[in-house]
Amino acid sequence: MRGKRAAVLGGAGFVGSHLCERLLDDGAAVVAVDNFITGADENLRTLRGRQGFEFLKQDIVEGLSVAGPLDYVFNLASPASPIDYAQLPLETLRVGSIGTENGLRLAEAKGAVFLMASTSEVYGDPLVHPQHEGYYGNVNPIGPRSVYDEAKRYAEAITSAYGRVRGVKTRIVRIFNTYGPRMRLNDGRVVPAFVSQALRGEDFSVFGDGTQTRSFCYVKDLVDGLVRLAQSDVTDPVNIGNPREMTILQFAEAVRAIAGGGGKIIHRPLPQNDPKQRQPDISRARTLLGWEPRVPLEEGLRETISYFRAIARPPGGP
Ligand code: NAD
Ligand code: UDP
Repeated sequence: MRGKRAAVLGGAGFVGSHLCERLLDDGAAVVAVDNFITGADENLRTLRGRQGFEFLKQDIVEGLSVAGPLDYVFNLASPASPIDYAQLPLETLRVGSIGTENGLRLAEAKGAVFLMASTSEVYGDPLVHPQHEGYYGNVNPIGPRSVYDEAKRYAEAITSAYGRVRGVKTRIVRIFNTYGPRMRLNDGRVVPAFVSQALRGEDFSVFGDGTQTRSFCYVKDLVDGLVRLAQSDVTDPVNIGNPREMTILQFAEAVRAIAGGGGKIIHRPLPQNDPKQRQPDISRARTLLGWEPRVPLEEGLRETISYFRAIARPPGGP
């Protein structure tokens, strides 16, 4: 990445800010673009002031303008947690559609590689397990998750079309549940929810009976996959995620074992269309990118929990 220049759309978000950091560490110049709709200026604190880093506050739906050359455009801009996209349905649809096209036009104008951050949600509530990239998915097109799922499916379609028709060098990553420092404590996703409950000694809010499964990938591993994919010539979608699958009940136990807290499991209603099982088939990433996750859940959780502990502490406090 040395000598390259990358735009990271959604750069003030959880994953985006880690990607900016990694690109700077690798010697690239980075322009982060964000409108802070679900991101935070605080996520840029360690980035601001680093050589080669710039920030542009822009809503990529309204327009996207980045001066100077670009080698890569990473499109991570989108609300990502089920609570966020339920509260921001039209913004989510627009950023996935209009925002993605604006990102593609920027990449086309600059001759840059365009990497689209898609999601395991394109598989919906999957009927094939584990999910491989050839599976077309099982998505309810009008359900509460559809604003996100269909926006990402459209984003994959328009990304592929710009590749075929306009010659843009496109990459598509299907990201599975990722966690780590800088997730928002109150974004409603299971990792910040259970960690904050454990740190406050509260009960764990398990939705449904807790037998639904997820596979959790540490953000550092994900970002490594994004960089490898961007540098490859792979235009087909690639799953990036950790294949270690567990039930949500087992995940609550894993958090309790590290964060402590005497919380019990309490059950809350299962959200509509909540996928019953999810595990990435990462054969493609292994074969084509030489990528696989390296950070064990326990280690990633320790890092994440110490981040949440630190931000829960009042500044200057003990
Ligand atoms: P996040 O909400 O922390 O980050 C998204 C960022 O995009 C935020 O900073 C937000 O302000 C910005 N954004 C949204 N709309 C924008 C707009 N119109 N203009 C400019 N900026 C805008 O979420 P995240 O977890 O970091 O997810 C990043 C990307 O990865 C998303 O595209 C998400 O769909 C994808 N993804 C994440 C996960 C995960 O587990 N974290 C899983 C699958 C896919
Ligand atoms: N979940 C839960 N309690 C919470 C938040 C989420 O049991 O407080 C469940 C949710 O129903 C889902 C899983 O944890 O089955 C992962 O949810 P998350 O919102 O993190 O991501 P998703 O994979 O659903 O996008």
